[in-house]
Amino acid sequence: MAGGIAGHSQALIADGFNSMLDVVAGAIALIGYRVAAKPADEDHHYGHANAETVAALIVGLLIIATGTIIVRDAIATIVTAPPNAQRSGPHTSRSESSS
Ligand SMILES: [Zn+2]
Repeated sequence: MAGGIAGHSQALIADGFNSMLDVVAGAIALIGYRVAAKPADEDHHYGHANAETVAALIVGLLIIATGTIIVRDAIATIVTAPPNAQRSGPHTSRSESSS
């Protein structure tokens, strides 16, 4: 992701968020799996299997939220950037545009 920011590449930044999301989603899934493995107790007579479903729901919402932000930013760039400034890679001398 640092490379994306340094190179002003929205695609690389988006991929960085994807990698971060993978780590967070993995942690949430692991927590859900561990809680789901616990046996039934006083408060949860049918066990804790639903914890895994809740973890899946949270991960799904995170994916949707991240994807929505990436698409929104990409559209905003296309709409607001001048035609000759949409490609603002490291080889252009133009200074950073606001985003
Ligand atoms: Zn319980």
